[in-house]
Amino acid sequence: MKLSFVPFDLVFKHAFNVSGYSRTTTPIVIIRLEHDGVVGFGEATMPPYLGESQESVMRFLDNIDLSKFSGPSDIEAILDLVDNIETGNNAAKAGFDIALHDLHGKIRNKNVSELYAVDRSSPFSSFTIGIDTPEKMVEKVREAMDAGFRVLKIKLGCDQDREIMDRILNVWHGPYSIDANQGWKDKEEALEFIHYLKQEGALFIEQPFQKNDLKNSAWLTERSPLPIIADESVKRLEDLDAYGDCFHGINVKLMKSTGIREAFAMISKARARNMKVVTGCMAESSCAVTAMANLSPLADWVDLDGPFLITNDPFRGVDLSEGKLILPDLPGTSATPCQKFLDSALFREAKLVC
Ligand code: MG
Repeated sequence: MKLSFVPFDLVFKHAFNVSGYSRTTTPIVIIRLEHDGVVGFGEATMPPYLGESQESVMRFLDNIDLSKFSGPSDIEAILDLVDNIETGNNAAKAGFDIALHDLHGKIRNKNVSELYAVDRSSPFSSFTIGIDTPEKMVEKVREAMDAGFRVLKIKLGCDQDREIMDRILNVWHGPYSIDANQGWKDKEEALEFIHYLKQEGALFIEQPFQKNDLKNSAWLTERSPLPIIADESVKRLEDLDAYGDCFHGINVKLMKSTGIREAFAMISKARARNMKVVTGCMAESSCAVTAMANLSPLADWVDLDGPFLITNDPFRGVDLSEGKLILPDLPGTSATPCQKFLDSALFREAKLVC
């Protein structure tokens, strides 16, 4: 197997604001894994606040030694080896995991849904309304309506939460969820606001408090009339084991879970515990989002809007029809690199190539 990679920057349609932090691009690394002339692609995406960078991802990929494997078929053993190279590096591991699944699926002529025995249905996906001034957020809601989305995910966690909701609910009458992005501080105020949101038709509340504030999360989960979903508090399977009781459900993202294999394990475990499941994404291109769309029929709610928020998607994959995600009928992750991207991308081979 030959491993190579190239850094790339995704450009947002709108500046991305979370908790007082704003950016217009997000760095990613596209990973290419080749065996016997068949090529699989993966993506690692690194929002700066999570600690990984293009440099750290490429350094990690340089240390992957696949010389003891004659091909990509032993996914479990290969991913165990990669996971044990170093702790952390979740996005780098996810990018490799996606490329490996893409390659393995293409060789077997099966898509990722088939590899995990998931029905190939077309779930609705929400569209994220990033936090901004109330006026701009209403503008983004209109944009989502024009694009054909039927569900919204509204980011809150600022002083104007109530005003924002009043303004948005004047124009939006469909289903929506709330992502407080760790921004709420007072548990009693949060509970009161959730009662108001329940009356106004919200579906669930994501990450109300700081990721380590499990005490208040558990307090709220016990009392909330809407499901409380963990995002930043639960990254991997071990977090679900340790903190799952503090929430009604989890938002599973490939860049947190280290890829498709562990995302599937997390969804299965959450289901076994009778927990709710959201499948979500970071700022990602169609490469990683299409990979996750393969597992999304297993979720209660789907939040895979990454490709619809960027202007320079280097891949084609999942599409939107009447608010639903439509996957191309292709093996592997079902995502395909754009020719323009391939023509300009200078892939570099990893140092430990076998
Ligand atoms: Mg979130």
